[in-house]
Amino acid sequence: MSQSLATVAYIGAAILFILSLGGLSNPESSRRGNLFGMVGMALAVLATVFGPRVSPAGMAWIVGALVVGGGIGLYAAKVVKMTQMPELVALMHSLVGLAACLVGFASYVDTSIQLQGVEKVIHEVEIYVGILIGAVTFSGSLIAFGKLNGRIGGKPLLLPARHWLNLVALVVVVWFGREFLRAETIEQGMLPLVVMTAIALLFGIHMVMAIGGADMPVVVSMLNSYSGWAAAATGFMLSNDLLIVTGALVGSSGAILSYIMCNAMNRNFISVIAGGFGSGGGKPVQKGEAAEPQGEAVPVSSAETAEMLREAKSVIIVPGYGMAVAQAQHTVYEITQTLRGKGVNVRFGIHPVAGRMPGHMNVLLAEAKVPYDIVMEMDEINDDFPETDVVMVIGANDIVNPSALEDPSSPIAGMPVLEVWKAKTSIVMKRSMASGYAGVDNPLFYKENNRMLFGDAKKMLDEVLVVLKS
Ligand code: NDP
Repeated sequence: MSQSLATVAYIGAAILFILSLGGLSNPESSRRGNLFGMVGMALAVLATVFGPRVSPAGMAWIVGALVVGGGIGLYAAKVVKMTQMPELVALMHSLVGLAACLVGFASYVDTSIQLQGVEKVIHEVEIYVGILIGAVTFSGSLIAFGKLNGRIGGKPLLLPARHWLNLVALVVVVWFGREFLRAETIEQGMLPLVVMTAIALLFGIHMVMAIGGADMPVVVSMLNSYSGWAAAATGFMLSNDLLIVTGALVGSSGAILSYIMCNAMNRNFISVIAGGFGSGGGKPVQKGEAAEPQGEAVPVSSAETAEMLREAKSVIIVPGYGMAVAQAQHTVYEITQTLRGKGVNVRFGIHPVAGRMPGHMNVLLAEAKVPYDIVMEMDEINDDFPETDVVMVIGANDIVNPSALEDPSSPIAGMPVLEVWKAKTSIVMKRSMASGYAGVDNPLFYKENNRMLFGDAKKMLDEVLVVLKS
């Protein structure tokens, strides 16, 4: 393939990626958006593999890597459950970071690249910055992976003088950057490069370890953004325009998503970007630190739940992580259809951080064919709770916790929540009185107008459906 044909293919792929992002912004066009992304990526891979920069001798390596990487990807896509997606995404971000580091070191020791003067300095700055971002992304994403799958505890690790530690690390990295640029041989430049990489790896670990459980959604989208910038840096090192464009698209869309998530969590964007957040507006999560709940939790049966739903005129369903774990979305859809058939106004209230990744609930409900027009964002539906007869909270906890609004000492204080307790009756469906991801007690369970339906969400909803249909 000639250089000009490869360039045309790259431009086509870049346009498809932009159309893909546009499509993904709306549930109705998201399938088309996905398709654009897949076609764009296929075009990009083909244009690179058959492009002018791959020698026939290198082809065997590339095909081998494609088969191994593609095989692992296919296997992961088949076996990974929806609830494990955030961990998978974190792991994939770590690979982008690792790739940026490896490409950086490879470009530095590649003696076929003979540059002089300003061009040499620019290339070395690209290498240094690329490895820096790559290493932070790599280690940060691995820690995020550990935190998301529970191998690493959710409590933030707050080292004494951690901001000073970060500042010292930054100064040392800048100083070694100067040494790196002044090095006359590859051997001389290797020491500053390796030291900087080690510091960047430690910084990535420190940054994500300092983040508390409830702030993880912001971290997930922030690392997404970092991985984009790492890919863009790799593009600069390899002089690959498409990689620069794609990396910039991922980096900037991830940054916008982080900003939206920060608003949803009531966190400050600047302190997130600087890292080392997590105790945020509240304090590190400690059991029992928030105000002790008042009153008693009142359990109900699935038959009683069905009865309350049948008698209601308006119902709002609030799904959370537990619905995803129980894979109850299809039963939820059937209950929705049955109730709507009986003339009940059924709607869904979706919190921006419900579940374990941005858009988690929307994806599950779309998979179960719940119509988009009854799925509302938190801001759209929060004012409607007082006029609602029954709210059914399915496997959600933190996103409906009134202490976020009522208790300034709560670790999640200030986070906007779905105000389900304002409805005439709320029913919380979960297996026990256990706390959610943030580890905070939930006073909702003890409110007078709240009922608890204990059990696995799928099992309980199946029972509710049977009674509703009888
Ligand atoms: P939570 O984690 O607060 O609560 C989920 C509840 O589901 C648990 O209390 C659990 O209670 C219940 N549950 C678990 N399994 C089942 C089951 N099989 N059947 C019924 N119930 C079940 O989830 P939310 O969705 O309310 O809130 C999301 C939390 O996750 C927030 O703290 C958010 O910050 C965090 N987060 C969000 C991310 C995102 O991007 N959206 C990413 C990372 C974290 P029990 O054990 O008693 O059943």
